[in-house]
Amino acid sequence: MDSHSRTLGHAAVERCRVLTGCTDEEGMVRRACLGPAMKRAHMLVAGWMEAAGLDVRVDPVGNLIGRVGDPKGRPLAIGSHLDTVRDAGPFDGILGVMLGIAVVEHFRSRGQALPVPIEVLGFTGEEAARFPLPYLGSLAMVGGLPEDALRLCDPQGTTLEQAIADFGGDPGRLFEPAWSEANRPLAYLELHIEQGPLLESRGLPLGVVSGLVGQRWFRLSFEGRAGHAGTTPMELRRDAAPAAAELVLVAESMARSTPGLLATTGELRSSPGAINVIAGRVTVSLDVRHGDGAALQSAADALLAEARSIAARRGLDVRVEALAESAPSPCDPGLRALLAEAVEAAGVTPTELVSGAGHDARAMARLTPSCMLFLRSPGGLSHHPEEDVDADDVALALDAAVRFVDKLAHAPR
Ligand SMILES: [Zn+2]
Repeated sequence: MDSHSRTLGHAAVERCRVLTGCTDEEGMVRRACLGPAMKRAHMLVAGWMEAAGLDVRVDPVGNLIGRVGDPKGRPLAIGSHLDTVRDAGPFDGILGVMLGIAVVEHFRSRGQALPVPIEVLGFTGEEAARFPLPYLGSLAMVGGLPEDALRLCDPQGTTLEQAIADFGGDPGRLFEPAWSEANRPLAYLELHIEQGPLLESRGLPLGVVSGLVGQRWFRLSFEGRAGHAGTTPMELRRDAAPAAAELVLVAESMARSTPGLLATTGELRSSPGAINVIAGRVTVSLDVRHGDGAALQSAADALLAEARSIAARRGLDVRVEALAESAPSPCDPGLRALLAEAVEAAGVTPTELVSGAGHDARAMARLTPSCMLFLRSPGGLSHHPEEDVDADDVALALDAAVRFVDKLAHAPR
């Protein structure tokens, strides 16, 4: 790794820490989409972008965009999000934006022209912490917002339309395309902390993301009959609690025995919910994820069939409510290969992993070939004030990203 990568990588970490001062709530990090703290963060980040030679603008929904290089050329977009969850750490999202700026600074520090125009994208509203739509900012840029987006409401009842106006933007321009066909990005790169323990367990600082998992969310209600815990004989009960317990265990064992499958039953509610009353109804949430669409579908089908058979065996009814679903979003194979070469050239054994969480790359992939590089998360910790990253890992990620830019610029297209 050269000294520029080390210095600029460490500076990117420092900038993430500086940005924790831009918060909507004293004593923690909380930076909402289109909120006052985001305004202050934009001032700082725009300053760093301008110092690096980028032309800066803010789009209607509050994405911060910096561009440098041939104005007529199609850029490489490098970005992530600047908004946070409540009581967040310093790095989720933010680091990817700071590294985008650092890539530009790296070429400048070597006195080199950029081999390809670069747009650094600081998205907003990725977290759905204010408005109930994840990837709000990136969806806006790729033309993927629902028609009624302006009527989305935050918990205080403020509409997106009002929030945009309060932030100084023009809600009437929300649906304007961010790029023309001629100048849309030729590729998108997102650098992001892993937010999980896999790279740490493999002893590796970096990992190329093969794709983002698809998800299916359900709520299942087992309906039996409530009754007295002392006077209802066991054989005459229609108890919803053991049925729910069976499903929880089936989901766990299926996921443990199926490669790539994740199944979570995180929310269990029993009704009436008393120590001396048989459960008349238990609802179980079910979150199923897999990187492969067919595998996801068959796992979800199998779990729902299992729930029905558990209910039938126990003389219960089961109601299934489908809450949400998203398809897997594979990263572009050509870009993944380039990124793996760049990682190897940076001195790191290339490895691939699936992203179990969603990212702006999911939205960007609708518009342009996209890829992601994960950085090791110490302790696997994220969405937590102690979320951390190793500054030397960040320097390696920058080194790999710079090599990726060079390779992309010289790749045939
Ligand atoms: Zn994130």
